[in-house]
Amino acid sequence: MSTPLGPPNVKTASRLDAIKPSITLAVTAKAARLKAQGIDVISFGAGEPDFDTPEHIKAAAREALGKGAVAKYTEVGGTPALRAAVAAELGRVHGTEISPDNVLVSCGAKHSLYNLFIALLDPGDEVIIPAPYWVSYPDMVMMAGGTPVIVPTSPDDDFTMRADALRAHVTPRTRAVVLNTPSNPTGAVYSQAQIAALAEVVLEKNLLVISDDIYRSLVYGGATYASMAAVGPELAARTILVDGVSKTYAMTGWRIGYTAGPAPIIKAMAKVQGQSTSNPTHLAQIATIAAITGPQEPVETMRKAFDERRKTIVELLRAIPGVSCREPKGAFYAFPDLSAFLGRNAPDGKTLDTDVSLCDWLVESGKVAVVPGSGFGAVGHVRLSYACSMENIKEGVKRLRESLLSLR
Ligand code: PMP
Ligand code: GLU
Repeated sequence: MSTPLGPPNVKTASRLDAIKPSITLAVTAKAARLKAQGIDVISFGAGEPDFDTPEHIKAAAREALGKGAVAKYTEVGGTPALRAAVAAELGRVHGTEISPDNVLVSCGAKHSLYNLFIALLDPGDEVIIPAPYWVSYPDMVMMAGGTPVIVPTSPDDDFTMRADALRAHVTPRTRAVVLNTPSNPTGAVYSQAQIAALAEVVLEKNLLVISDDIYRSLVYGGATYASMAAVGPELAARTILVDGVSKTYAMTGWRIGYTAGPAPIIKAMAKVQGQSTSNPTHLAQIATIAAITGPQEPVETMRKAFDERRKTIVELLRAIPGVSCREPKGAFYAFPDLSAFLGRNAPDGKTLDTDVSLCDWLVESGKVAVVPGSGFGAVGHVRLSYACSMENIKEGVKRLRESLLSLR
């Protein structure tokens, strides 16, 4: 008999009633559970580089550990040295002067975003989020008491939000719009002209921009990252930059993200962080300085490898009859449309009427894990992270193909 951990019917906060668990993490956990049972599953789940953190970054951490330099708390918002490095780096990228006082370092960009919404939103405040969106934005906004306002986009526009669509969704309660370029899950990259057009609406409607730039270094082909803050000083003054080392430097497990923005917002976020987590891990902060200020060649090596994988996965997906797949221009996700397969029957007779049931069947029967599009506000699509080996890409898409073509 197992030991009871408490009364069975504990009431949890109603604040969480409408909050969904993160589907990206759930799919990844399910694949890991099956693998642990000895089942050979190929996972295209979480967006996490398969590379190890570059050697010089690990060496900086080892050295700091050897010196015993990391046993203590740091300033809540990060060490002065790290905030200075982040301010210099983001200032360079966005062509604007950033003070280290306007930087807050948190436990991953996810934590940065959560702190930001908690610090910014009053009940009923609206945040505009173009769909398809990263799974966590709407739920984070809701946890902070705000209201996510979802703006649908079209595959014909490569899933980018038009300026008139943004304008049409602004109300007197709108506080901010979230921009994520390159995008998770679509891999879309906004052009300079598109950013400039959105900037006009931002100024006209007096909005803040939350610019989630976690994938800005991962762009391919002719695509380039276009910065809202770089449009001009008026935009720089109202853009909150969210960035981090997870994707660019293969440092997901180190948990460091950062925010640069207007002083009152950064101060309010520091208050939230000071009453919740305190500083992010000291050792990880030291590693992050090495990442940002050290040699950038490893970033280019990883980017090139992702680009090769991108070309291969898109080609293999497009070769499956019934599957269409846009070309992702950044990040490391393919986002094919599988709507032609919804409502069909599996060989065991089970009807797969939603993308969630399709993805459940794919992992259980086909031994390939992909994330259902409904979690990203895009029913009928699925997301595959190609931040995994070429071998996995080839074998995983083969399994996907065989499974899909067995549906009737
Ligand atoms: N934003 C986007 C769009 C992401 O895909 C992720 C992935 N984890 C994050 C933010 C947060 O990254 P992290 O917390 O690892 O820095
Ligand atoms: N951001 C990654 C993803 O979308 C990691 C998992 C998560 O935090 O959502 O897969």
